[in-house]
Amino acid sequence: MSANLATVAYIGATILFILSLGGLSNPETARRGNLYGIVGMTIAVLATVLGPRVTAAGLPYIVGALVAGGAVGLYAAKKVQMTQMPELVALMHSLVGLAAALVGFASYVDTSIVYEGAEKAIHEVEIYIGIFIGAVTFSGSIIAFGKLSGKVGGKPLLLPARHWLNLAGLLAVIWFAVAFVQAPDVQAGMTPLVVMTVIALLFGIHMVMAIGGADMPVVVSMLNSYSGWAASATGFMLSNDLLIVTGALVGSSGAILSYIMCRAMNRSFISVIAGGFGTGGGAPAAAAGGTQPQGEVSAVNAAETAELLRGAKNVVIVPGYGMAVAQAQHTVYEITRLLREKGVNVRFAIHPVAGRMPGHMNVLLAEAKVPYDIVLEMDEINEDFPDTDVTMVIGANDIVNPAAQDDPASPIAGMPVLEVWKARTSIVMKRSMASGYAGVDNPLFFKENNRMLFGDAKKMLDEVLGALKA
Ligand code: NDP
Repeated sequence: MSANLATVAYIGATILFILSLGGLSNPETARRGNLYGIVGMTIAVLATVLGPRVTAAGLPYIVGALVAGGAVGLYAAKKVQMTQMPELVALMHSLVGLAAALVGFASYVDTSIVYEGAEKAIHEVEIYIGIFIGAVTFSGSIIAFGKLSGKVGGKPLLLPARHWLNLAGLLAVIWFAVAFVQAPDVQAGMTPLVVMTVIALLFGIHMVMAIGGADMPVVVSMLNSYSGWAASATGFMLSNDLLIVTGALVGSSGAILSYIMCRAMNRSFISVIAGGFGTGGGAPAAAAGGTQPQGEVSAVNAAETAELLRGAKNVVIVPGYGMAVAQAQHTVYEITRLLREKGVNVRFAIHPVAGRMPGHMNVLLAEAKVPYDIVLEMDEINEDFPDTDVTMVIGANDIVNPAAQDDPASPIAGMPVLEVWKARTSIVMKRSMASGYAGVDNPLFFKENNRMLFGDAKKMLDEVLGALKA
């Protein structure tokens, strides 16, 4: 393929990537968005592999790597549970970071292209920044994977003088950058490069270790953004325009998502990065700070739940992480259909950080074929709870915790939540009184108008469905 044709293919792929991002912003167009992305990526890979910069001798290696990588990707995608998606995404981000760092080193030791003067300095700065971003993304994503999968505790690690440590690390990185660019040859430049890489790896670990459980959504999207910038840096090192543009698209969309997430949790981006918010999963509230809720809990069974639903005109369903764990979305849809047939107005309320990844609940509900027009964002529905007869909270906890509003000492104070307790009756479905991801107890369970339906969400909803049909 000639260089001109490859450039045209790259422009086509770039347009498809932009269309893809546009499509993914809405559940109704998400499938089309995905398709654009697939076609764009196929064009991009083919144009690169068949392009002027790959020699015939290199082809077998590329095909071998494509087959091996494709097989691992296919296996992972087939095997992964929906609830493990965030961990998989974190792992994939780590691979992008690792690739950027390795390309950086390869690009530095590659003597086939000789750079002179200013060009040499620019190339070396690209390498230095690329490896730095890549290494931070790599180690940070590995820790995020550990935290999301429960292999690493969710409690923030707060080292004494941690901000000073970060600052010292940053100054050292700048100091070694000067040494690196001034190095007379590759051998001399390798020492500052390797030392900086080690600092960057430690920085990535420290940054994510310092972030508490409740801030993980922002971290996931932030690492997504970093992986984009790492890819973009790789594009600069390899003088590949498509990689620069694609990386920038991922980097900026990840940054926008991080901003949206921060706003949804009423947090500033800086305070998230500074770390220390929220505690580990399942920790008792006393350890997390804030007032421990007290009082009586009213439990109901499936038949009583069905009775409450049958008598309602307006029902709002709030799905959370537990619905994903129980894979209860299909039964939820069956119940929704049945109630709607009986004339009940059923709607869904989606909190921006419900579940374990952005859009987690939307994906599950779309999979179960719940119509999009009854799935509403938090801001669209939060004012409707006082006019709601029954809210059904399915495996959600942190996102419906009134302590976020009522208890300034709570670790989640200030996080906007779905005000389900304002409905005439709220029913919370979960297996026990355990806390959610942020490790904070929930006073909702003790409210007078709240009922607890204890058990696995799928099992209980099957029973509710049976009772509704009876
Ligand atoms: P939570 O983690 O707060 O609560 C989920 C609840 O589901 C648990 O209390 C658990 O209680 C219950 N549960 C678990 N399994 C089942 C089951 N099989 N059947 C019924 N219930 C079950 O989830 P939310 O969705 O309310 O909130 C999301 C939390 O995750 C927030 O803190 C958010 O910050 C965090 N997070 C979000 C990310 C995102 O991008 N969306 C990413 C990373 C973290 P029990 O054990 O008693 O059953």
